[in-house]
Amino acid sequence: MLADQLGRPIKDLRISVTDRCNFRCPYCMPAEIFGEGYQFLDKKELLTFEEIRRLAAIFAGLGVNKFRITGGEPLLRTDLDQLIALLADIPSPSAGELDITLTTNGYLLAQQARKLHQGGLKRVTVSLDSIDDDVFKKMNGRGFGTERVLWGIERASEVGLGPVKINAVVQKGVNEHTIVDLARYFKGTGHIVRYIEYMDVGNLNGWKWDEVVTADEIVDRIDREMPLEALEPNYVGEVANRYRYRDGEGEIGVIASVTKPFCGNCTRARLSTDGKVFTCLFASEGISLRDPMRDGADDLEMEELISSIWRQRTDRYSEERTDLAPVQNRQAKVEMFRIGG
Ligand code: SAM
Ligand code: SF4
Ligand code: SF4
Repeated sequence: MLADQLGRPIKDLRISVTDRCNFRCPYCMPAEIFGEGYQFLDKKELLTFEEIRRLAAIFAGLGVNKFRITGGEPLLRTDLDQLIALLADIPSPSAGELDITLTTNGYLLAQQARKLHQGGLKRVTVSLDSIDDDVFKKMNGRGFGTERVLWGIERASEVGLGPVKINAVVQKGVNEHTIVDLARYFKGTGHIVRYIEYMDVGNLNGWKWDEVVTADEIVDRIDREMPLEALEPNYVGEVANRYRYRDGEGEIGVIASVTKPFCGNCTRARLSTDGKVFTCLFASEGISLRDPMRDGADDLEMEELISSIWRQRTDRYSEERTDLAPVQNRQAKVEMFRIGG
């Protein structure tokens, strides 16, 4: 079995299908940097759907059984349902089916949900940092209200992409006062809100430790109003810690990437829009798979390249960050919109 230097297998592939986005969340793509003049990738630099399908099949052959489509905003990529259909056709490495999911800001979801489901998408994660319109408008950097995103969540659920996971990044002084309202809004609906500790991804968001609201604090705040109890993980390596409401009205998750890093179980690789593989969310450099592929490498050569990259992997950035706190210990990191969450 393929394993990295710390014995971790490769199980998940996050595929970024565009570096563009219709939002400008200040913690990811601050508007002052990603303005009119910003140079996004040229079309010819992007992996085509056929190239993504080919690489994904090679990854599946090495043990990957879960694909997550991300970005940028993945729903901006034209005909995304056709890519889903190509991926859905790949044979799974294990007995079960391949899992194909998507993370989106939800703005264009209502229109596309049915086609995506028909293409073979199984579930969807929608990012929604606050249920308070004013807070949300600030956090998406574009002044969009919550209405269209909520509509997207409802449509996704109606067409069979539920239960929907709702990702909320929590930033101190920005949306921490709306944590409980968000939980209350979705309690009893079957959708699962997952709170994410604000992370030091990339180099552009000016991250500081004191802007992090810890997962423990998030759970405490909700528990005080709506009592919770911890649940077992669904599987080894699940990133969210799960809690259920004691009254049986559903569950929430917290992703403690900063205060309780989970590098020991990290089985994720990331493929950027221009075809570079990154073995960690916080890596500085990716290795191009697109270039050798376009230079004519065959599947076996590509498989050898990917295996050798994974075999050499030693990444455990979040654990190192904790060990070295509060020093920010690496200079250039890839930006999250290039490789997705
Ligand atoms: N545009 C899509 C979206 O927002 O869902 C997909 C890409 S986005 C980079 C993936 C996830 O990363 C989102 O849930 C987003 O909230 C999260 N994210 C981005 N920057 C983050 C940060 N600095 N800390 C924690 N999560 C972050
Ligand atoms: Fe766009 Fe998602 Fe980044 Fe927000 S978090 S700017 S929606 S890619
Ligand atoms: Fe995985 Fe890197 Fe995140 Fe650790 S810091 S969990 S190795 S992506």
